[in-house]
Amino acid sequence: MTETEVPEDHPRYASLVTRHRIETGVDRGITSRQGLIAQGRGEAFDYLLGERTLPSADAAERAAAAALLDATDPVLSVNGNVAALVPTAIVELADAVDAALEVNLFNRTDERMHAIADHLREHGAAEVKGLTGDDEIPGLSHARGTVDADGIGAADVVVVPLEDGDRAEALAATGKTEIVVDLNPGSRSARAAAIPIVDNVVRAVPNVTNHARELAGAESSTLAALVDEFDPDAALDAAEAAIRGGDFERATSE
Ligand code: ATP
Repeated sequence: MTETEVPEDHPRYASLVTRHRIETGVDRGITSRQGLIAQGRGEAFDYLLGERTLPSADAAERAAAAALLDATDPVLSVNGNVAALVPTAIVELADAVDAALEVNLFNRTDERMHAIADHLREHGAAEVKGLTGDDEIPGLSHARGTVDADGIGAADVVVVPLEDGDRAEALAATGKTEIVVDLNPGSRSARAAAIPIVDNVVRAVPNVTNHARELAGAESSTLAALVDEFDPDAALDAAEAAIRGGDFERATSE
């Protein structure tokens, strides 16, 4: 079944399309096989969240947009799942906030780095970083910490969607403002972030872009206030409460 063959009136249309994109990503050498496992884990959390953007996630997405607009050198980190799921949306976000795109993989191979960079260019990216790999995030063994010196290495604000917990913690320890997109509010990545977005990346990335377009032209003080007012612990608590207090019967019948 191709993406266009997924019946639009299917009650689980969005979930089927998402799955299909990941499968295609694996077939094309963009997504790793471990990416399939990450997708399955994410789907389970999304199911429990009711497959919707919580108000607390929307607030996080607005704070993320403000942080990106107010940044000097913002970078959006792209892995194999992100490239497969939201290639157009991530390029649009980079344009909206004037951020660099950097391919950054847990399992770094030259082949996959190039496949993802090419895929992003096919979706409109003018420049894709990550292939130089001339810097390291301290505290990670070689290859797991490899980044570009003029990309993530020099960034003040970094978006890391679907990141491994270890790497997210090491990046947060560098003092950069870290924005994580992760459907599991209990993951170490979400807990390490200054701004954790507990939402599906397919909803989160376009919504950050919408907020960024609304906030474009705002004073730096207004943007900084939006970031300061954001409470990461409260956002994680709200997501956990939504999962634990959810109406499971309704979720399964949707
Ligand atoms: P941690 O160490 O932080 O607890 P992990 O290293 O075990 O996490 P992985 O198995 O690498 O995490 O999975 C990456 C994370 O991405 C998972 O927490 C999963 O819920 C999340 N995830 C998967 N797909 C999506 C998606 N489409 N949108 C948002 N988050 C997702």
